[in-house]
Amino acid sequence: SGRWARAMTILKEFEEKSGTPISKLRQVADAMTVEMHAGLASEGGSKLKMIISYVDNLPTGDEKGLFYALDLGGTNFRVLRVLLGGKEYGVVKQEFVEVSIPPHLMIGSSDALFDYIAEALKKFVDTESEGLHVSPGRQRELGFTFSFPVRQTSISSGTLIKWTKGFSIEEVVGQDVVAELTKAIERVGLDMRVTALVNDTIGTLAGGRYYNKDVIAAVILGTGTNAAYVERANAIPKWPGLLPKSGEMVINMEWGNFRSSHLPLTEYDNALDVESLNPGEQIFEKMISGMYLGEVVRRVLCKMAEEAAFFGDTVPPKLKIPFILRTPDMSAMHHDMTPDLKVVGSKLKDILEVSNSSLKMRKVIVALCEIVATRGARLSAAGIVGILKKLGRDTIKDSEKQKSVVALDGGLFEHYTKFRECMESTLKELLGEEVSENIVIEHSNDGSGIGAALLAASHSQYI
Ligand code: ADP
Ligand code: MG
Repeated sequence: SGRWARAMTILKEFEEKSGTPISKLRQVADAMTVEMHAGLASEGGSKLKMIISYVDNLPTGDEKGLFYALDLGGTNFRVLRVLLGGKEYGVVKQEFVEVSIPPHLMIGSSDALFDYIAEALKKFVDTESEGLHVSPGRQRELGFTFSFPVRQTSISSGTLIKWTKGFSIEEVVGQDVVAELTKAIERVGLDMRVTALVNDTIGTLAGGRYYNKDVIAAVILGTGTNAAYVERANAIPKWPGLLPKSGEMVINMEWGNFRSSHLPLTEYDNALDVESLNPGEQIFEKMISGMYLGEVVRRVLCKMAEEAAFFGDTVPPKLKIPFILRTPDMSAMHHDMTPDLKVVGSKLKDILEVSNSSLKMRKVIVALCEIVATRGARLSAAGIVGILKKLGRDTIKDSEKQKSVVALDGGLFEHYTKFRECMESTLKELLGEEVSENIVIEHSNDGSGIGAALLAASHSQYI
């Protein structure tokens, strides 16, 4: 019928506009490299902030003792306790709890958010068991993973530049987040000091390096997306002080804010951006990460419903609610292997209150998920190639076979199999077979928590 043809036209047009042929991906990778140079050259020189993390040494394996870590960066936060046994014993014990953040605290006051976190931390500390205590007379020490853009002022302090991922507490912007957390820790009567402030990419890099010395970069694909890597200190023109002894510095790219004319942006992306909490910002993140993929799908479906009566004469009211279609649901539909696409059918019913969808319709929805996930995955791969290019690791040097390991973490990478597989195959496509043999993508399962604890250890007040 005419309606169906119109719906297919909308889908095809979206597919064309969001296409990522290899030539385009190369342009994106090149643009990433160029922006990295610009961001390292001067403060404000690029959309990429290329933040100096003050981490100039990554874990060696010698770290010893009991350390805490706190990971805040999305809808949940985690508190961890790690007992480190040095080279001989490694990570002896690891315990954690995960706590969800009530949405009202994400847009409330600073004290309310940090008190909630400190209370959870205190509760967790109270569960310290036999043999899991800090030495007498020593203060507990914590690595704070805070996954929002922060202007670091030292390894253990930094001011919030802006919120992302649905958080919005204006009074914290410009404040030292370690000071905010420390005040809350004092308010709840806990004896603990924050000795390292990092974000999840740096935590993942540190955790990855602890287990594998070839780890040179880390990428997070979760609610948001970001990357960090090890740079030569003398390749950072904007570096203000004496060069670190190690000659190296970990850079937090804040790559979610990358933007380039080569990105295949569509009308749906533009509308999503304009209506978001942070218009004009985090454009790369809005095309790639878990917070947004499902929302892009919803927006295309909405247009198909409104302009081509894809779901019949009326537009399902639920379909008009922003963010109602979450990426895990999109992923479940995309992976539906049943012959009649049962999963798609039940998601449509449960989420959008669309009952009796036809198989033909369900197939279109799977195709739409495929388009959105493929674009995100291929752009992620291009971003990684940009980093490898910056480091000169995208080609084979002489006969040298230097391995480069990129530690990957985040719920999207971990759970969205088709996304992950597409990203990995695109990386091979971009690098070629020979170079690919030396590039390893390693899933660093919760490296970020352990990493923060390791950095708390190596920056302990007692050494
Ligand atoms: P955060 O990024 O908030 O620290 P995670 O790394 O755990 O947390 O990532 C959570 C995100 O991962 C969710 O917001 C969601 O977008 C994505 N995600 C979780 N489970 C799935 C899934 N099964 N399929 C696809 N994406 C998922
Ligand atoms: Mg996280």
